[in-house]
Amino acid sequence: MSAPVLELVGASREYGSPPTLALDRVDLVIRRGELAAIVGPSGSGKSTLLNLMGTLDRPTAGTVRVDGIDVGELGDAALSALRARTIGFVFQQFHLADGVTALENVATGLLYSGVRASVRRERAAEALDRVGLSHRARHLPRQLSGGERQRVAIARAIVGDPAVLLADEPTGSLDSRSGATVVGILRELHAAGTTVVVITHDRELAAGLPRRIGIRDGRLDEASIGDRTDSGDRRDSGAAA
Ligand code: ADP
Repeated sequence: MSAPVLELVGASREYGSPPTLALDRVDLVIRRGELAAIVGPSGSGKSTLLNLMGTLDRPTAGTVRVDGIDVGELGDAALSALRARTIGFVFQQFHLADGVTALENVATGLLYSGVRASVRRERAAEALDRVGLSHRARHLPRQLSGGERQRVAIARAIVGDPAVLLADEPTGSLDSRSGATVVGILRELHAAGTTVVVITHDRELAAGLPRRIGIRDGRLDEASIGDRTDSGDRRDSGAAA
């Protein structure tokens, strides 16, 4: 079985006082090469879970490991470095820089990698090619459709070859046709070896992916959403009891 990329062990996140428990002792393992959906309604804890998986936030109890490293043992600088090296993010609203071309937007995904500018541009061109947008490299975001913008954002997320791609409602701002194209690209990346986790409230989107992890009231329930169909082994799949 392939190595875990993300591991949550009894991970909880409380907010405020009196405390509300947004995530409740979550156990989850995402392995290298998986394509998984985390699916649940608004308020179920998806953003909180994304923030923990993406090391944007730390659990108030339990453990989060990224690529085998316990994020609780890292200071902020080391955590930022781990995040830059191992995680690619895609957001609903794309978050591209308006004033620069698609190619330059993708190249910013390598800004903290120590790679020199000419190599950053070469790799950015390759990443744009992987999402089928070589012919849009010199376009500004405003000259692109929503679906194309999201494909640029995906290229930026994968240009550094991260251990995992975390996509937060990646089709949430797109019409259904553009959304289907974006999901198709995530599937192609997965087929080529990228580990992908999609966070979504869209059960139809989730239904098309090999592994579906339900979330409700801060707890995971993989069984209620459906079995893993890619490996047939759910013992280590991390569904909360
Ligand atoms: P989702 O992304 O599925 O909509 P969230 O992770 O945003 O769910 O929220 C889960 C629960 O945690 C909700 O009850 C929400 O109100 C609460 N919550 C989220 N963020 C905060 C916060 N910063 N302060 C207080 N409560 C929060």
